Amino acid sequence: MAILVLGGAGYIGSHTVYELIDAGREVVVADNLQTGFRAAVHPKAKFYQLDIRDRKALDALFEAEQIDGVIHFAASSQVGESMSDPLKYYDNNLHGTMVLLQSMVAHGIDKIVFSSTAATYGEPERVPILEDDTTCPTNCYGQTKLDMEHMMGWVSRAHGLKYVALRYFNACGAHASGKIGEAHNPETHLIPIILQVPLGQREMVSVFGDDYPTKDGTCIRDYIHVTDLAQAHILALDYLMNGGENNVFNLGNGVGFTVKEVIDVAREVTGHPIPAKMAPRRAGDPAQLIASSEKAVRVLGWKPEYNDLSTIVASAWAWHKSHPHGYTEG
Ligand code: UDP
Repeated sequence: MAILVLGGAGYIGSHTVYELIDAGREVVVADNLQTGFRAAVHPKAKFYQLDIRDRKALDALFEAEQIDGVIHFAASSQVGESMSDPLKYYDNNLHGTMVLLQSMVAHGIDKIVFSSTAATYGEPERVPILEDDTTCPTNCYGQTKLDMEHMMGWVSRAHGLKYVALRYFNACGAHASGKIGEAHNPETHLIPIILQVPLGQREMVSVFGDDYPTKDGTCIRDYIHVTDLAQAHILALDYLMNGGENNVFNLGNGVGFTVKEVIDVAREVTGHPIPAKMAPRRAGDPAQLIASSEKAVRVLGWKPEYNDLSTIVASAWAWHKSHPHGYTEG
């Protein structure tokens, strides 16, 4: 029996596959390689190149493999792009998940752990954010993830599917082996963008907005190491395998850093001055997102190991220095 990881060639997916294989699990990866990389897939995982919107390809996979649980990362995940191209998000994220669930139901596969996001909350009413706080997304990415959660809920009622939604805060860092890390093209995420400056690939960082109601006017986020996120997926799958009910968990460190503070930490870690300039706000960005992950700790037994931003940025820096062009040759 194997675990199917959809989107297992992407950033968080590839790290989860490494943790699953390290834990002795059999893993099948499916990815359309639109944003993922074949080189990011663990050599011991069986690989299918397919798009989750392709019902025939999914059906064939479920017929060929003995799958006892699905971890679903296959989605578009950029806030800015979701505001300029919302229909891409409805297609990849919602339509893709709909086809996936149709195929799972048809094949009697009834356990799924999937990537949700702190962007489901929108502008929070209070921080740290708890799972039953109001969800009112300020961007289309968060809206499609919230709609995916609701879709799971209705399918669960009708067909007995069990799901766990993991609402990540800001994923960052890289695997300790140095073999895999963050690689998006184009890159939009803050920490890899900052590190492009000491790599000589960018002159400076643009800070998107310094007029937010925060201590230095820049957005506050809760940065969580990708290996800690990966571990939470395994715990969530085991929770479902042990009869756990549908559930939603926040995954963060519970500590917020402003954009300016993250740049300062990167200056310390890299020893580079990393010039920064102020730029207009990015559409859809809430001012502050900080998790309470108390429920994941209590119910899943999750223990995030990287709770220090310098260590997290240092792990990202080690990856980017050794792979300045990600998985592609320079
Ligand atoms: N950000 C920024 N400059 C950049 C990229 C990101 O100021 O070049 C800010 C962004 O506006 C947000 C924070 O950094 O407040 C984290 O953005 P990221 O895209 O990494 O993650 P998100 O919060 O969208 O999940």
